[in-house]
Amino acid sequence: MKNKNLTLGIDIGGTKMLFACVEQGQIKGEILSYPTPDTSGAILECILEGIENFYPVKSIAIATAGTVNLENSKVTGSTGNLPGGYIGLELGKTLRERFKVPVLIENDANAAAYAEFRAGNAKNHGNTITITLGTGIGGGIIVEGKILKGTTGAAAEVGHIPITPEKKRKCTCGNWDCWEAYASGTAYHKYKDHDMWEEYVSMGLAALINIFEPESIILSGGMARIADYELLDKKVKNRVVMARTKILPAKFENYAGLIGAALLAEVELIEF
Ligand SMILES: [Zn+2]
Repeated sequence: MKNKNLTLGIDIGGTKMLFACVEQGQIKGEILSYPTPDTSGAILECILEGIENFYPVKSIAIATAGTVNLENSKVTGSTGNLPGGYIGLELGKTLRERFKVPVLIENDANAAAYAEFRAGNAKNHGNTITITLGTGIGGGIIVEGKILKGTTGAAAEVGHIPITPEKKRKCTCGNWDCWEAYASGTAYHKYKDHDMWEEYVSMGLAALINIFEPESIILSGGMARIADYELLDKKVKNRVVMARTKILPAKFENYAGLIGAALLAEVELIEF
């Protein structure tokens, strides 16, 4: 495998880091996986070591936990699951200087949504949203074929949509009663009101559909595998104005982030 014609996709999550070369949405060759270290210095060392296994490559595309700036060059927001110093690593600059190739960084949920839009179960759906129902809730929103970034790059933090004023459940973000505190996998296991879970999920999905009217909403993550899609569909349809959005499972799951980042790099870095 000649890596120098391929983009190296990297996924940096709270528990593991994944590396694989990607060509037009397909993983080529081996996938490397490391447990995510607990200091920012060790994370950087691990990234460099991972890249060395594939180098030379055409470009480097990183999907990461945390918010990423509009220029796709650095992590700007706290991730909760990664050490504080991670934000200060200036990953884009550091890797570009070291490996002399273009580097693109995108939020992992945004990258996952882009993967589903370009090559997954939302293929060619110009308006689509991917929701990850895992430990927390992540979201990526595609509007007219582009990732919705917001003013600084922190859009689509859908897990923190407030769904009730009752102050019943504390969220990981410090606020009360975010969607994530009701509809994530963590909430499902912690509160054990399982009959209500689809109800809670449908509330967030309906909010998103009423705002964006996407062609599809893709569900990924551990909870997406146990969700009752028929029930969700029925509950969502009762809450939305225009009930045409399809609710579908994800195609890419664990590799969505690195595949999506690589697909994005192939478009965004084309001028290099
Ligand atoms: Zn929250």
